[in-house]
Amino acid sequence: MADAKTTELSVVTATGTVADGPVRSVTIPTTDGEITVLPDHVPLVSVIRPGVLTIRTGKDGADEQHLAVSGGFLKVSGDSISVLADTAERADDIDRQRAEQARKRAEQAMAGKLEREELAEAQAELQKHLARLRAVELAGTRRRGRGGRSQTPGS
Ligand code: ATP
Repeated sequence: MADAKTTELSVVTATGTVADGPVRSVTIPTTDGEITVLPDHVPLVSVIRPGVLTIRTGKDGADEQHLAVSGGFLKVSGDSISVLADTAERADDIDRQRAEQARKRAEQAMAGKLEREELAEAQAELQKHLARLRAVELAGTRRRGRGGRSQTPGS
């Protein structure tokens, strides 16, 4: 149950729930810019763009989790935040090498001769892969900042 200082978050994709539970705040990339939703936020509906979604929990919202999202919809109402995402992965579940290879493929595709629509699609693809890499990077920074293990392979 959400108390006065938390709000219930649910992040779902077509294949299942990626995150849910009470949160202190969530920062979400939307087509209107990045927004941070706190408890008692005014109701809103927005479109999600590729980027990193940051969930804050714990005392004063000090515990952060980063998710990569590729697009979708956001609904804030009453004491809940609902994210319906095209794809969403927790940073720890992201295969960095796969995202890196996909990024290179997207950049190569963009270097070719593309129609305007194809270019827009390629740019969205690239943003999706960059968001995955950014989420991994942010999670690694957080762990290193707390003296935890780094993301360096083999460490
Ligand atoms: P790739 O070319 O690497 O397969 P893609 O763009 O085709 O990437 P998506 O269509 O965005 O992949 O996603 C397909 C599924 O794979 C989704 O469930 C998504 O969460 C998952 N996924 C994609 N890339 C990664 C990754 N680097 N790490 C973990 N899961 C991923």
